[in-house]
Amino acid sequence: MTLTPEQRLTFWALADVLIPATDTMPAASEAGSAEKWLDRALAARPDLVSTLARVLDATDGTDPEAEARRLHAEDPDGFSALAQIASGGYYMNLKIRKRIGYPGQGKRPPFSDEAEYDLREGLLDPVLARGPVSATPPPPPDPVEPATLLSFSLSGNGDKADLVVIGAGAGGSVAARHLAEAGFEVVCLEQGGWENASDFTGDKLEWELVADAQWSPNPNTRRHPSDYPLEVSGSPITPVMYNAVGGSTIHFAAQWVRLRPHDYKLRTLHGIADDWPISYEEMKPFYERIDQEMQISGMTGDPNYPPGPPPLLPPLPIGAIGRRAAEGMNELNWHWWPAAHAIRSQEVGNLAGCERTGTCMWGCPKGAKSSTDTTMWPQALAHGAKLVTGARVREITTNGNGLATGAIYVDRDGQDQEQKADVVIVAGNGVGTARLLLLSGGEEGIANSSGLVGKRLMLHPYMSVLGIYEDDLEGWLGPWGTQLLSLEFADHDPSRGFPLGAQWDVMPLGGPLFTLFRYDDLPFDERWGPTVHDLTESTLGHAFDWGVGIEDLPHESNTVTLDPELTDSDGIPAPRITFTIDDEMRANLDFQLARAQEAHEAAGAVKTIVADWSQWGWHLLGTARMGDDPATSVVDRWCAAHDVPNLYVLDGAVFPTAGPMAPTATICANSLRCTERLIERARLQPVPA
Ligand SMILES: Cc1cc2nc3c(=O)[nH]c(=O)nc-3n(C[C@H](O)[C@H](O)[C@H](O)COP(=O)(O)OP(=O)(O)OC[C@H]3O[C@@H](n4cnc5c(N)ncnc54)[C@H](O)[C@@H]3O)c2cc1C
Ligand code: SF4
Repeated sequence: MTLTPEQRLTFWALADVLIPATDTMPAASEAGSAEKWLDRALAARPDLVSTLARVLDATDGTDPEAEARRLHAEDPDGFSALAQIASGGYYMNLKIRKRIGYPGQGKRPPFSDEAEYDLREGLLDPVLARGPVSATPPPPPDPVEPATLLSFSLSGNGDKADLVVIGAGAGGSVAARHLAEAGFEVVCLEQGGWENASDFTGDKLEWELVADAQWSPNPNTRRHPSDYPLEVSGSPITPVMYNAVGGSTIHFAAQWVRLRPHDYKLRTLHGIADDWPISYEEMKPFYERIDQEMQISGMTGDPNYPPGPPPLLPPLPIGAIGRRAAEGMNELNWHWWPAAHAIRSQEVGNLAGCERTGTCMWGCPKGAKSSTDTTMWPQALAHGAKLVTGARVREITTNGNGLATGAIYVDRDGQDQEQKADVVIVAGNGVGTARLLLLSGGEEGIANSSGLVGKRLMLHPYMSVLGIYEDDLEGWLGPWGTQLLSLEFADHDPSRGFPLGAQWDVMPLGGPLFTLFRYDDLPFDERWGPTVHDLTESTLGHAFDWGVGIEDLPHESNTVTLDPELTDSDGIPAPRITFTIDDEMRANLDFQLARAQEAHEAAGAVKTIVADWSQWGWHLLGTARMGDDPATSVVDRWCAAHDVPNLYVLDGAVFPTAGPMAPTATICANSLRCTERLIERARLQPVPA
């Protein structure tokens, strides 16, 4: 579908109101080959064409300025379609990009000692001189249970597997790989398919135009056939995720950070929420092994992080934005450290190194991100794991003896199929796993004698402060995840009047559309017309975010339940999310945002803008809690369900508390820890006859 000649005439009249000519910039219609770029924008966003056509047909063209203002005031959808196509075409135009000095998100590999160069002149010295931020002594280590060295097969044969893994994302991939390497017969059922790096849009001109449409991390926006819808009317936060081989690591920003020893012991140290039933010491060897397997880049020596061997690869450069942020933090004597990433800073074998396109959250077009489709699945498949894509599990089956017997899934042709197995591992993430447990085993769900399945949802509510600087900081350069992080306000401090804290991250801003989008809430005259060029000039490349993701507590009222009406394309009930950002979370967010503003000011920002990302729930945790007591937890310390001993949960659902850190290093390390135990104790594992 495209626009008629009459509609195009009206379009250009309106577009020139939004993006007019100035002394230095052409108007939208005069930008050179403007029709070509309009066609490209329309082709990238077919979902906007009918709304745009409606707007254009309803406009008589006599007074485009009055009409543009009316749309802005009265027809948000119509105005948004017009603005997105007009700006999308204009800023894709290579001549315009040249004029505004924006090279696009193309190839810009780091030079060999760039990471070191960015840290020149003793940038890290104040952080090292100050040492640990927190006065809290680390908790005493728990005794570590000695490993047993048994290894044998379960009873899989014919159409029955030893183990079925549901979900090929972070947790499920680690389990499938290690079980296959140990010689078990593993079948993995994944509702999505394989993704190709060449399909990701990050290095294409259309990237920003499609980033919050068909490539959105929000399944309700994206609506791929592999997605299931989320009912979110009861939550200010929409969980974001990706459903494919590699799961949400396809979209993740690849910050790679462990929970620290005291994050496991909130109750012991501060009387808050709960302790994990396991300690950092039990996790440490698995963190170290998973760091190698996930090909982590980073640097050791952070006084606020547990010591250990260096990651496989050197760190990525912190870039000009990281350097500027660090200078501000040094001014305040606040903690920061170059971030570790699940991104290859260099080539590894035939796997690519990072080219700093800065589009990691929309899939890495260079194949440099260590999403688990590239790090775990090749090994799993080479060792005989069977991966069934397009397989949406509707139910975990059980026998009369309280054991799981396998899973029923809907295949791509809409037919029900059954996969029998001795052991069932669920790794569908904190939303998908809770949904599946509630869909199985009768009215109350499977493994739910505690009543906690789907409860205690934690999402790490997230906001940011954008700082705008006079200097050109090449603020579009990646990685997107974080150039550096700060743990200055990560820990609990009772004097602040709210529990817990937040991890902070420096994030780039992207290109012109992402830049201008930050001004969308402004009145018409401060956002459109000649001002649009001023905003681009002052902000594009000159800005970065200090993002703050707070540690939220596991409240039983924050839940995943089954929606009574909404279903996915196979007619399976969709999850309903209920979540409240309570007064304590609000106070934590407000405190962190005020400090982030100070950090920007100390770094010389000329302007700051608070951005509310609370729509986005990146981390899906807590809905099948791990614990020693079956009355107050769903799975035990090895992530086997208390009620169903051959049913395991190996994803973020098992987190008793969220910690302030991004969770995937812990999800993967914990999956490895429990998988190894399963392998070692296979002989003792109860299985169905
Ligand atoms: C945009 C974005 C940015 C992020 N950034 C970071 C970051 O920088 N650092 C970090 O640590 N974390 C980050 N995360 C979070 C990270 O991606 C997740 O923590 C991690 O992938 C969760 O692993 P998982 O195994 O629990 O689930 P997932 O990786 O989500 O995998 C679950 C898989 O299960 C499949 N599945 C679910 N239900 C079914 C079913 N019924 N049948 C068949 N298959 C099913 C899904 O299709 C999916 O592939 C980010 C996430 C997003 C979306
Ligand atoms: S990892 Fe991120 S910054 Fe690096 S090449 Fe991939 S998308 Fe670009």
